[in-house]
Amino acid sequence: MSIHWADVIAKELEDRGPHTIATGITPSGPVHIGNMREVMTADAVYRALSDKGVEARLIYIADNFDRLRRLYPFLPESFKEHIGKPLSEIPCPTGCCNSYADHFLNPFLESMEKLGIKPQVYKADALYKEGKFVEAIKTALIRRDDIARILKEVSGRDVPDNWSPFQAICQSCGRTNTTQVIGFSPEAETVDYECSCGSTGKVSMRGGGKLVWRVDWPARWPIFRVTIEPFGKDHATAGGSYDTGKRISEEIYKYPAPYPIVYEWIHLKGVGAMHSSTGIVVTINEMLDVVPPEVLRYLIIRNKPEKHIEFDPALPLLNLVDEYDQRKGDARALELSSISGSGPFDIPFRHMVTAVQIARGDRDLLIKALQRSGYETSRMDEILGRAANVEKWLDRYAPSFVKFQVKEQLPAAVNNLSPEERKGIALLADRINEKSAAEIHDLVYTIAKETGTDSKKFFQAVYIAFLGDRQGPKLGWFLASMDREFVKSRLIQASIPK
Ligand SMILES: [Zn+2]
Ligand SMILES: [Zn+2]
Repeated sequence: MSIHWADVIAKELEDRGPHTIATGITPSGPVHIGNMREVMTADAVYRALSDKGVEARLIYIADNFDRLRRLYPFLPESFKEHIGKPLSEIPCPTGCCNSYADHFLNPFLESMEKLGIKPQVYKADALYKEGKFVEAIKTALIRRDDIARILKEVSGRDVPDNWSPFQAICQSCGRTNTTQVIGFSPEAETVDYECSCGSTGKVSMRGGGKLVWRVDWPARWPIFRVTIEPFGKDHATAGGSYDTGKRISEEIYKYPAPYPIVYEWIHLKGVGAMHSSTGIVVTINEMLDVVPPEVLRYLIIRNKPEKHIEFDPALPLLNLVDEYDQRKGDARALELSSISGSGPFDIPFRHMVTAVQIARGDRDLLIKALQRSGYETSRMDEILGRAANVEKWLDRYAPSFVKFQVKEQLPAAVNNLSPEERKGIALLADRINEKSAAEIHDLVYTIAKETGTDSKKFFQAVYIAFLGDRQGPKLGWFLASMDREFVKSRLIQASIPK
């Protein structure tokens, strides 16, 4: 068995500790499971290092001081006026929280908690306003020409003559993309700018603006003593921001660039790669509505970061949940995905899909249905959590053939059953008694044989009696889940010719 990728990284880095693993996401839109890969990858390495006894910490920096780049499809037209302003300084699009950035950041922080990820959280606007970047800003402004040269050498692109590593926030219009740096004072810790809106002014290096991304990223490495950082492949291209960041970090800030972990995108089946900017996303909270958090971890952690993940939330999701619940996958990936440390969960997710549809929102009936089909129901929180997952899954992603409804009245379609099928159904009513789910399942086959009916046809006949449809969930477990007297009386009714 091969060693898990997180352990491979931990082994390579164990002698270079203590470690700080950094993650960062710009809260410019709904945070989706593609973004989640970053924190999950970091968390897996953090756990792998901790398991080896290496001192490590996990940090998350919310890039909420980045500017709004354009009018995303999910924004009202009125937000056009905010383009160019830092996300932390723009109002919440729906008025429910302090800022635009918080509106997308808060649900993400909540979902990290549900996923058992506990980083130290920093907000970029606070870091700038507190002055954490002042020295880095001074250095960048003083060594502007050296940085420009590195950017040109590494990226191959010309750097405009008026380029500055610092973006001032215009004190008049609030934008950073319209200002130009025209001077600075390391002593006063201020930067002079002019803005295309017509105003000029002086801002503090403490929150009056920020370093451009390609300088901001390496500047934070020595500030937080970052040693490991996962990032998406868009930053990893030749001449991309990691390549320039590495040179800037080493030559300007005299700090070794962190160990890079490049991760691939997660594609949602039938939708494509998820990007906040296009609005094509399934947010993490939407995902956590249908998938238990451990399973969402497992989806990501079982794959090497460089492997592209195609995620299908329809039927394959059920297999994924069962693979996790029954601990059938890679043992170390399962361990790194666990949150509560609880053991295997024996109620198959597919059976939950059956029980939830029988119970139709009645909690007691759900528990009874599970007990009748022979399952242990002591782990109530997990059961109720999964039932909630299943309800949302049925609503959003389930293919129509897994959905059913037990008919309150005998379906009219039983009129078309053959005499042999009726006879078989009568026998089933007679012999079902105290049988278990598996025994009932076998019994259906036995009776089909005895009555000379094709077993597939006989299964269909039984489904028709309950669902008015030729298909349904796994029959023995389905029948066992319902009240036995009801099952018997329905079978007897169906067996009587009209
Ligand atoms: Zn809000
Ligand atoms: Zn302005």
